[in-house]
Amino acid sequence: MGDQIKRVAESLIKSQSAIALTGAGMSTESGIPDFRGPSGIWTRDPEAEKRAYWSYDLFQKSPKKYWEERLTGPSLLGDLFQAAPNPGHLALCELEAMGVLKWVITQNIDNLHQKAGNRKVLDYHGNAFKLRCSSCAARYEPEEFDLMTMLKDGQLPPVCRKCGGVIKSDIVHFHEPIPSDVSTMSLEIAMASDIMLICGTSAVVYPFANLPRIAKRLRRESNLPFTMIEINAESTPLTEQGISDDLVQGKTGEILPRLVAKIKKMKLPAKKSSY
Ligand code: NAD
Repeated sequence: MGDQIKRVAESLIKSQSAIALTGAGMSTESGIPDFRGPSGIWTRDPEAEKRAYWSYDLFQKSPKKYWEERLTGPSLLGDLFQAAPNPGHLALCELEAMGVLKWVITQNIDNLHQKAGNRKVLDYHGNAFKLRCSSCAARYEPEEFDLMTMLKDGQLPPVCRKCGGVIKSDIVHFHEPIPSDVSTMSLEIAMASDIMLICGTSAVVYPFANLPRIAKRLRRESNLPFTMIEINAESTPLTEQGISDDLVQGKTGEILPRLVAKIKKMKLPAKKSSY
């Protein structure tokens, strides 16, 4: 593994537009379970997966009931407020501060990249700490609505102050389309990247899993440099279908800090500019 980390560090130092694509595996070391890892929520309880598919359906049928369930039921991922970034998140923040990493596109909804200090983060599946209008996609901080009082007074669902649309959690539920601003921007960022670190994701959730595939095809067709490195506990379809160039197998909370330490030991050119 030492040689692999050295190779990745060398490539990152030479890169112009490295990005990271992250998934639930990034946050297991912060105590938030993933879905499909060996002790993931779906792996242990396949019925929980079926239940998760109802959320968007319920929102469309009855936004009031959707909100009542959200405010009174248990959270699938536990108490996200208490979760803290782990060494993997902190390493990605260091890579951004060094000018090496230009963007993080995450499937995670836990806000831990932002808590770690990363500033260029795109929440592909939304953010549990935000609300979003289902009509105009305006985002709100949850504190902008007194949701518990609205629950008590029977005034749910909250409505958008800009267009009057119904507000939901910013989380993108199963069967819900990715907000178009996010999908457009993530495609642009992916296609402009020359190195993609794919960290802690099983890469089976679409359309997210298309980002590495599309970026690789388009950049190769245009003869632009592109390297895809997975950092994951196990192999994924990207590994098995020969789409990624390398898999550094293990925990993101251990491998990413080693990568940062290796880059620091090598000669990093004056702070790289961001694009
Ligand atoms: P997934 O559960 O399908 O896959 C996680 C992958 O990470 C697995 O391959 C697992 O072996 C690996 N992994 C687990 N711990 C790891 C570690 N410490 N280091 C390296 N690899 C590790 O997750 P996914 O691909 O992100 O897809 C699940 C979907 O569910 C996502 O779209 C996401 O929105 C959502 N989700 C989010 C959170 C969160 O916000 N933290 C948690 C669970 C699920």
